[in-house]
Parts: sequence; C-alpha cells; structure tokens
Amino acid sequence: MKKTAELLNWAQEQLRDAGIPEAEAESELLLEEHTGLTRTGLYMNLGSCASMDEELLEDRIAKRRNRFPLAYIIGKARFMGFDFLVDERVLIPRQETELLVENTVNTSYVVRRTSNNEISILDIGTGSGNIAVSLAKLIPEAKIFATDISEDALAVAEKNAVLNTVRDEITFIRSDLFLGIGNLRKNSVDIIVSNPPYIPAAQIAGLQPEIRFEPRIALDGGEDGADFHRRIISEAPAYLRNGGFLFMEMGAGQSAGITGMVSKNGNYVKFGIIKDYAGIDRIVWAVKR
Ligand code: GLN
Repeated sequence: MKKTAELLNWAQEQLRDAGIPEAEAESELLLEEHTGLTRTGLYMNLGSCASMDEELLEDRIAKRRNRFPLAYIIGKARFMGFDFLVDERVLIPRQETELLVENTVNTSYVVRRTSNNEISILDIGTGSGNIAVSLAKLIPEAKIFATDISEDALAVAEKNAVLNTVRDEITFIRSDLFLGIGNLRKNSVDIIVSNPPYIPAAQIAGLQPEIRFEPRIALDGGEDGADFHRRIISEAPAYLRNGGFLFMEMGAGQSAGITGMVSKNGNYVKFGIIKDYAGIDRIVWAVKR
C-alpha cells in the first residue's frame, strides 16, 4: 500500500501534466473523497498508508485527465451551501447562478408583504433542481413548481429535493417551457425564475473541454443564445400575476438584445439588469404590468 503523500503527489502530477488548472485543489478533493478524510485529516495523515481503492483512484484520475468534470466524477456539487447529486444527465450548477437565487429570495420578501405570506414560484428548466431546492430551503412558505423537458433531469432534481428534505415543497412537471404546465393557474404565479440554456450554438465547441460532457440541451440557446429567453419573455406574462416578477440568467453580451425583447413586449411595467461579481450583465428581471 502506498502512503497518502505519495498518492497525493502522484495525483497532482497527473492532473498538472494534463493541464488541469486547479490540479492541486482537485487532487486534494479526490483524495478526501477516497479516504473519507477532511482536508486537515488528509494532511495529518500524509505519512501513513491510505486505506483507499487505488484502482478506482487511478480510474478517476484518468477520467479527469480526459477533462471529464470533477463534479461528475465525485457525483456531487455545492450550490448555495447545499449538496446536490450531479451526473451527466444534468448541467453542473454554476456559482454565478447563486446570484439568481439570492435575488429571487430578496424579491420574495417584497412579494410576501403583498400576498398574505403565500408565494408561488415557478422554476423553468430546473436541471439538477439546484434553484428550486435552494428556494424551497430558503423560503419555507413558498410553493414551488419546477419544470424540465428532460425526464432524466427531473429524476435527478427529485432526488436532490429528497436529499435536502424539501420534496413536499416542490411540484415537478415535465414540460417544454410552458407547454406542459396546463394545471398551473393563469395569472397566479408570483415569481418565475429560469437559468435557461444560453450559449450560442456555434460557440459550444470552442468552450472549455469539460463542457462537452454536459447535456447539450442544457447549454444550447440557439443561434444567438437567446432562443429560450425570447420564448419565456413572451409566454411568462400569461402565468404571472399582475406585479409578479420574472428573473432570468443570461450570458455575456446578451443584455441589450434581451432587455430589448422585454421592453418591446408591452406586458412588463419595469425591467432591469443585475451584474455578476465579474461585472458582466448576468440577470434580467421584469415586472408584469
Ligand atoms: N437550473 C439548472 C441550473 O441553473 C439547470 C439549468 C440548465 O440546464 N440550463 O444549473
């Protein structure tokens, strides 16, 4: 059996050699996963023999060298401080999407004051369920509806709702945007939130190599990347109550086009954008007339 230090060094060399940007941190994470130790525990046990499945570790390092995402290898991701199971059926939650959740939560306080504390939220394209589950955790009085066109994604989202003990707070609906949500009353929803696919189709191939392992339907936003924003902007007003909010994430450079769609629509009284911490216009919000 090899010592922990030896395996850690080996893992780091392997990942560095493959050009993985965070080779050191990722190796630590993988070894933590394999030994069941915390990061501190790992460093305190560098001199002892690590009890772990070395063959599995080798297999995982090989996958990672091939740019298979670390989150899929360890099968989980953190989002808003909660744990989510992830695999190739769903997009890996991104940090910038936390901003979408934070803004939705803040708006829910405003909405609650005008709606007797009841609040309904619709998450379009829930994927791993990261947005819907986080909202259910953070706004216990909310009734949440979460849709996805992918049956596979809904299965993962449901597992994540169970894992985070909010299964009863969320209604999952298989639906292509609004096409399958017939049961939801018109003009009733307080907040619609979505992180739709928004990468322009032609750009996907040139992105970082990890992305090619993620579901194409979770990424591809059509020619200009705004196909889903276009549809959501035009269809959301039928479901939102008057004064209800729409929040959507978007990609760099899409802000002008998307706010243009909102302002031309005529069903929204107010709208605006929110920048992410990198200074990129990341969220568009709009209030239904
Ligand atoms: N709602 C999920 C997320 O924000 C999935 C989004 C998607 O698949 N485009 O990660």
